[in-house]
Amino acid sequence: MLPLPTFEYAAPTTVLEASRLLGTPGSRLVAGGTDLLVSMKHRLFEPRLLVSTRRLGLRGVSVADGVLSVGAGTTLREVARHPTVLEHLPSLAAACRTVATPTIQGMATLGGNLMLDTRCLYYNQPAGWRASLGYCLKREGTVCHVAPKGRGCYAAHSADTVPALWLLGAEAEFVSVRGVRRIPVSSMYHDDGMAWLRLEPDDVLTAVHVPLAGRAVGHRKLRTRQAIDYALVLVAVRAPVDGGLWSAVVSSVSPSPIFVEAATPADLAEAAFRACQPLSTHLPAATWRKKMVRVEVARAAAALTSA
Ligand SMILES: Cc1cc2nc3c(=O)[nH]c(=O)nc-3n(C[C@H](O)[C@H](O)[C@H](O)COP(=O)(O)OP(=O)(O)OC[C@H]3O[C@@H](n4cnc5c(N)ncnc54)[C@H](O)[C@@H]3O)c2cc1C
Ligand code: SF4
Repeated sequence: MLPLPTFEYAAPTTVLEASRLLGTPGSRLVAGGTDLLVSMKHRLFEPRLLVSTRRLGLRGVSVADGVLSVGAGTTLREVARHPTVLEHLPSLAAACRTVATPTIQGMATLGGNLMLDTRCLYYNQPAGWRASLGYCLKREGTVCHVAPKGRGCYAAHSADTVPALWLLGAEAEFVSVRGVRRIPVSSMYHDDGMAWLRLEPDDVLTAVHVPLAGRAVGHRKLRTRQAIDYALVLVAVRAPVDGGLWSAVVSSVSPSPIFVEAATPADLAEAAFRACQPLSTHLPAATWRKKMVRVEVARAAAALTSA
């Protein structure tokens, strides 16, 4: 069993106090801890202070003026089982149900999912494993084992709920000592595996707002086993209305999800295939994963057409 590093713990009761604590170097927010604590055991992060979201009152789902608002501290299980989500946003419910296992969904939060670290075969490993390769560019090393001649990190965006939330037109609400702001989920991410969030360290995600009148969205997750595994290719597809375009967001193939549009499902699948250039951040061959982008987009669009 891997031990956790030593850290201090704070459980503030206001978001502003949490933001203030996060402003000091070496601090990190923890919600369900299902990703962060594993990463700490792997010595990917060794925060001096963990700031808990538990007492911030960020848990719960409400509906007002045609918008569903989910507190960032709401568990994926609660989101997936909420009657309004099941009736109006089935792709969000489906995405929550594909994360890890039912037990983990009972602890993992929606906020933690949107803020999930990018992942890579050579990075999400215990410290001894990484040391045997001389670590990698993302932490402690100087070389990227995926693209040794490259200069960046290509660790893959792997948060299951993001593609569906993106196409549903969701907005994320952040609070910090600088104030409150809402940004579209589609604007939250950079194409950089080491700095994938367009945010400041003291930004606290407080809620996710999703319009209920959104168009039909489908979600598909390709993975090695149909339980526990992270995605090899993650896809959300949105059907057009009034002669508009089909849209897709593909994730787990690059540091930021990739958005494409096209006039027909076949063109959409082809556009996604062309836009996605997965690298060897996962065990199965990148060339096969690229081909599966086309297959999964086509399957998601077909499911929407036949619904
Ligand atoms: C075995 C296993 C399998 C998994 N499989 C999947 C999977 O298939 N798909 C998937 O998407 N995830 C998977 N996960 C990862 C994780 O369970 C989920 O992403 C989960 O939703 C993370 O939420 P959390 O509350 O546990 O986040 P935490 O681990 O507490 O935090 C994750 C990150 O988010 C930040 N954070 C948390 N809340 C906030 C907030 N309110 N504001 C700002 N920052 C915040 C933390 O600082 C941290 O950097 C898996 C985890 C395990 C252990
Ligand atoms: S893509 Fe390269 S730098 Fe990034 S985590 Fe993987 S091996 Fe490390």
